[in-house]
Amino acid sequence: MFAGKTTELLRRIEHAREAGERVRVVKPTLDTRYAAHELVTHTNVRVAAIGISHVNEFAQHAQDFDTIAIDELHFFGGEATAAIERLRANGQRVIVAGCDIDHFGEPFAPFDVLIPLATEVLRLSGSCARCGAPSTHSERLVANSSRIIVGGIGDFEATCARCFRPMARDAQ
Ligand SMILES: [Zn+2]
Repeated sequence: MFAGKTTELLRRIEHAREAGERVRVVKPTLDTRYAAHELVTHTNVRVAAIGISHVNEFAQHAQDFDTIAIDELHFFGGEATAAIERLRANGQRVIVAGCDIDHFGEPFAPFDVLIPLATEVLRLSGSCARCGAPSTHSERLVANSSRIIVGGIGDFEATCARCFRPMARDAQ
């Protein structure tokens, strides 16, 4: 959270388009924080995106595109890895952004499996809200133990590993 992941994704989308690649941008329909058909960064930079609800839709929407950019990939869960590997097997390039550690402090699918398969991995960090060190974790500030909630400012806090307090598994 708040480490600039969507901003970095948008930068890469822009570069790919400048290089003449046809780029399809997708996002989970679950993430309706800002706009249904756009990626929007916390600083209000926007790019058009298709909202999809299941990894099965990746291939259909990727047809005729060189590059597929996917934001908030963790919303799609572990099944995303196979779907992405099929796109790569077609010769398509896939750029993704998302959270690789959940609020229990554990690896977040599909990144646990996807990261070793990736050509390039960039881990961004913000600053720990408590001590200012580089942040690796996002601590959930609202009591809700489901693995995925769509949050904005006030629902999560970026922390370092030392300051991180994992959500109790029985929290409601
Ligand atoms: Zn800290």
